[in-house]
This record gives sequence, structure tokens and C-alpha cells, in this order.
Amino acid sequence: MEEILKKIADPEMLSQVEKVVPFHGYLSTGALVGIQMLNIARRVLEASEGDRLFVTCETYNCLPDPFQVLAGATIGNKGLKIMDHGKMAVTVSKRAPVGTKVTGVRIMLDPLKTARYSRLHAWFMKTEKVPHSEVVPILLSAGESLYTWEIVDLDVPEKPRKEIAICECCKESFIQKDGETFCLSCMNGSTRS
Ligand SMILES: [Zn+2]
Repeated sequence: MEEILKKIADPEMLSQVEKVVPFHGYLSTGALVGIQMLNIARRVLEASEGDRLFVTCETYNCLPDPFQVLAGATIGNKGLKIMDHGKMAVTVSKRAPVGTKVTGVRIMLDPLKTARYSRLHAWFMKTEKVPHSEVVPILLSAGESLYTWEIVDLDVPEKPRKEIAICECCKESFIQKDGETFCLSCMNGSTRS
């Protein structure tokens, strides 16, 4: 890890990596992909560091963490959504009024571009077991040349009203979505009956 950190010449990237490592646990290849995607998104959207970002990650693997720790887009503040399509792709937009359209950018790690780097491509396609210590330096030197992105128009949804009800079955409170009288866990029969 120390060896890898020494190879990072860009002080901005180094500072980002130093924040992601304790949060994510180590510098995984996927976490570094997330950092690079965040930097592309900020540039394309002309977002500065303090701007609130809304992020949809298309995988649970590694990618969401840099957006949480570096951009404050978390699961809990609803800045981060996961649509688990199993893709190394992310869509990012800035804050906009509800009910309007906002410009976002969808960025993906592009297999046509990773194919230029056989070891990185082998990691991406899982055709071989390639350790992070080998892939991370390739990713660092290839940089943003590995990604493809496009501008997308996104709807900013209205905030649903939050009704709280007491479940008739378990007597616990829950957020009611559509007038239902049982909480979701009782409806699914996954807890006590
Ligand atoms: Zn219940």
C-alpha cells in the first residue's frame, strides 16, 4: 500500500485516496474507479467540492464508498442510491428543485478501453485473479482514458409524504407507503406472526 501511495503524483488524488482507505478498509481497484468517476463527474457537471451530489451506483461493489466519504452522498441522506445491475457505472447530478429536470452524467468503466491493458482487463472481466496491488498502478497511470460517459436528463422526483402508522400485527411503528395496515416485515412473514 505504501508503495502504491508513493506512485501517486497528483496531490489531489493522493488526498482522496488517503480518505477512502480508512473508510473502505483498503484501496481496492473498484474504490479507485469510484474516485476517478467522481472526479470526471465533478468536472463535467462543473461541481465544486462543496456541491451536494446525487449519485446512483449500478453495483454494491466498492464503487459507492468514494462517493460517500468524498462527496457526502450517503445512503442515509439519500444522496446515494444503489441499483444493483452489477455494472461498474454511476450516474451523478447536482441538486435541483423537485419536479424539474436536471442534467446528469453517466460514467462507465468501458471494456473496449480496458482491453488496451491486458492485466487490468483480466481483473475487470474476472478471467484471471489479478491482485489489487497489480491493478491499481495500471488504473492510476491509465487514468480517465478508461471511461466513457454521456450526458443524461434526469427527473428530480417529488418527495413522497411520510405517514407513520402502527402495524396491526407487531404493534411497531413503520413508514406507511400506501395506506397498508401491516408493516412490510409482517406482510412478508419474515418476523413474528
Ligand atoms: Zn408488523
